[in-house]
Amino acid sequence: MEPEPFKALPEDWERALAIVAHPDDMEFGAAAAVARWTGQGKSIAYCMVSSGEAGIDGMPPDECRAVREAEQIASANVVGVYQVDFLGFQDGIIEYGVPLRRAIAQVVRGYRPDIVITGNFRDTWGGTNLNQADHIAVGRAVVDAVRDAGNRWIFNEQLTGDLQPWGGVKAVWAFGSPGATHAVDITDTFDAGVESLRAHAAYIEGLGWENFDAREFLEGFARQGGQRLGVPFAAPFEVFPMGWGE
Ligand SMILES: [Zn+2]
Repeated sequence: MEPEPFKALPEDWERALAIVAHPDDMEFGAAAAVARWTGQGKSIAYCMVSSGEAGIDGMPPDECRAVREAEQIASANVVGVYQVDFLGFQDGIIEYGVPLRRAIAQVVRGYRPDIVITGNFRDTWGGTNLNQADHIAVGRAVVDAVRDAGNRWIFNEQLTGDLQPWGGVKAVWAFGSPGATHAVDITDTFDAGVESLRAHAAYIEGLGWENFDAREFLEGFARQGGQRLGVPFAAPFEVFPMGWGE
């Protein structure tokens, strides 16, 4: 059976905020899409819930944190993103809950995005390949915190000075999801996406995957996505509308 064709993601927006669990999450699924959008003049910021400090087996967290934050900032710069925040939750044991929603709502209220991007938070990547616990916790908290951000009476203590409720998020888009229905053409920005992943050099080295090739790895997924959008390369997203009646 032929898979359903993807619908093209809308591009009539100005500001997006990407909120993910770890440095490198964006680069394994969405950096080339970000490069396309920043190239159109859109503003995009990154928010990392953890600093990925438990991600390198041979490097203790206190040393690893600074390495991974620096790699993430360099990686973001490659695709035109110059604001990268780290929320400091502990890598590997991020819990879904009110503290996480509170921290994310504050970032959403501060940045006032039209679109929020996150990673796959379904139980699997498709089939029986299990997703990772931090990704699931963060994605669920993102969709909830986007709603919290618009409600004056939730996390009301944040609303001092310039911070105000923000109900302007039109949708949350999750990359890497087995439930993807939409995609964006990344043919022209694919190379920037590869460079962005390569910026995580210490992390990739630490994975110990023999002969890992960033281009080859990303190309397989981009080509599959492209087939369903009718272009050479595409990045798929699952779309969660955040307004009512849409
Ligand atoms: Zn991750």
